Amino acid sequence: MTPASSDSTQNKSTVEPDTNLSPTDADRGFGWWTKTLQYKTGLGLNEDQKKEYVEEARMRKQLEACKSCEENRDWMMKYSPTVVFMLEQIRKIGGDVPKERVKCDICTEPKYGGFHPDLGIQLCYNYIPDKWVLNDTLAHELVHEYDNTRFKVDWMDIRHHACSEVRAASLSGECAIMTEFWRWMGTMRVAKGHQQCVKRKAVLSVIGHPKCKSKEHAEEIVDEVFRSCFNDTRPFERIYR
Ligand SMILES: [Zn+2]
Repeated sequence: MTPASSDSTQNKSTVEPDTNLSPTDADRGFGWWTKTLQYKTGLGLNEDQKKEYVEEARMRKQLEACKSCEENRDWMMKYSPTVVFMLEQIRKIGGDVPKERVKCDICTEPKYGGFHPDLGIQLCYNYIPDKWVLNDTLAHELVHEYDNTRFKVDWMDIRHHACSEVRAASLSGECAIMTEFWRWMGTMRVAKGHQQCVKRKAVLSVIGHPKCKSKEHAEEIVDEVFRSCFNDTRPFERIYR
């Protein structure tokens, strides 16, 4: 969407805003500002122009979200402990996940991300609310990537898929908030809260499998594989949070 070259010139212009802003940039900025004012006051725009304005505003917002998704992705791949650890572990077993394999995308169905053995990792920037969710989503998809590199996963086999979903939900840290919640409640149900969260998330993912017939079917499959897959914490020594 945004070519790398235009990103770098934009970054440059934020350092020295006045000297680097070309007349056309200034024009465009001024034009947009005028249009926004006209739209908000309802003055001087006909119906077509209003529609055009709404469409342009949507495009601008999307471009911005896409750019910040790519920036957060790059940051997490450099500094997030979980993501960096997973990338190292994948490299150790002969795989590689360059950032080109992790794509910021607009997703048509509500989800945070996706994994495809041939296409790579998808981050749905129109559904990811902040960089912490992006971090957990990326860690989750990297568990699938790890499984795909390490084991002979048959993704069309619903049990294989369910097993990887259990591991991804458990190891990515996306259930950590639940764990925190139970701890905060002062109960001894920390472990149980985590397991319930993992099961619930795995079921939601397995529902999307082409061979899944119903929610009950997904629950059945997840229950079947849960114990062995939940206890398989590779490449982590244990669930670390
Ligand atoms: Zn998944």
